[in-house]
Amino acid sequence: MLHKNHSLKKLNTFGVEAKVKLFAEVFSLDELTNLFADEKVDREKILVLGSGSNILFTKDFDGLVIKLSSSDIKIIDETTNTVLIEADAGVIWNDLVKFCVDRNFGGIENLTLIPGTVGAAPIQNIGAYGHELADYFDSLKGIFIKSGNRKTFSKSDCRFAYRSSIFKEEFKNEFIISSVRLKVSKSSKPNTSYKGLSDYLSKKEIANPTIKDVSDAVTEIRRSKLPDPTKIGNAGSFFKNPVLSENSFRSLKAEYPDIIKFSSDSGQIKISAGWLIEKCGWRGKRTGDVGTSPDHALIICNFGNATGAEILEFAMRIKEEVANKFGIKLEEEVNIF
Ligand SMILES: Cc1cc2nc3c(=O)[nH]c(=O)nc-3n(C[C@H](O)[C@H](O)[C@H](O)COP(=O)(O)OP(=O)(O)OC[C@H]3O[C@@H](n4cnc5c(N)ncnc54)[C@H](O)[C@@H]3O)c2cc1C
Repeated sequence: MLHKNHSLKKLNTFGVEAKVKLFAEVFSLDELTNLFADEKVDREKILVLGSGSNILFTKDFDGLVIKLSSSDIKIIDETTNTVLIEADAGVIWNDLVKFCVDRNFGGIENLTLIPGTVGAAPIQNIGAYGHELADYFDSLKGIFIKSGNRKTFSKSDCRFAYRSSIFKEEFKNEFIISSVRLKVSKSSKPNTSYKGLSDYLSKKEIANPTIKDVSDAVTEIRRSKLPDPTKIGNAGSFFKNPVLSENSFRSLKAEYPDIIKFSSDSGQIKISAGWLIEKCGWRGKRTGDVGTSPDHALIICNFGNATGAEILEFAMRIKEEVANKFGIKLEEEVNIF
């Protein structure tokens, strides 16, 4: 059913107001196909929404927003060591994590409590605590908005990269993911090499953690560190961590010995965007109802009734100061509309 002039305020974790001309909640691929056939629907103006935890609405949208609410999780295939699981796009990501943890299937436990839906997870190749979706991804299915053609994407088709995929680049807003398949393990040991996680487990004296121990640890760490979007509007990290060449990193390190680096891969070094922002004096800074989290400079919050445009303006001021001080151009992780 199509709703007219619908408010998105409760459908995005920044909690900003934006009105949309048409809104529909859809439960299957066939319903989606029927919706596309409706003469009121302009296929040039369609946006898919999951839980709205990685979106900033800066204005009203003169088109159709579709919320996928399909919610099935099923085991497709099982061998001695692996399990192939298929989850609908509308499944809450953490419910899929719980499904695996409850059955002792290993892999995605480090991704516990990332907000959002399964359908959105491949868009930016969600990641945390040393793992990312691509590590366990098998394939996904969906439909091209303009042609209505259905397609299955393999892992290599998706061109996963750090917080990116083909769906954030070439096929941005062109393809609707309807289900995702992951291959998880029945025999792997949890990976606890990420420093924050290993420190936490040592402190709790857990020497040989189970998959559930790791999931519980990640839950506790995240709850203690990140602002809860049901209480304070936010979309997690606003910017990606910049990736530098070894040479650029070396010269920055000479000037700022305390610079935080996360990982290096084939001559590229990922550094902390939060550190850069903090060094510019923006941690805990506020303008009206917009500000960075006092605990996390990378998280921009709506502390009250900020508009999307105000949040974007605040973010752009941060971006400008980081560029001026360090010569580094931060790239938004959040999708801006
Ligand atoms: C407190 C907090 C912590 C976070 N921590 C992390 C973290 O640790 N790691 C991480 O990677 N992310 C993190 N995020 C970001 C967010 O959780 C993820 O990006 C998540 O995958 C977004 O899911 P969603 O359903 O809310 O997507 P939405 O915000 O609804 O949509 C995001 C984008 O995906 C598109 N989209 C959504 N569903 C589909 C679909 N079915 N088909 C095609 N396109 C679709 C939308 O059009 C939009 O462009 C965090 C966010 C918050 C609020």
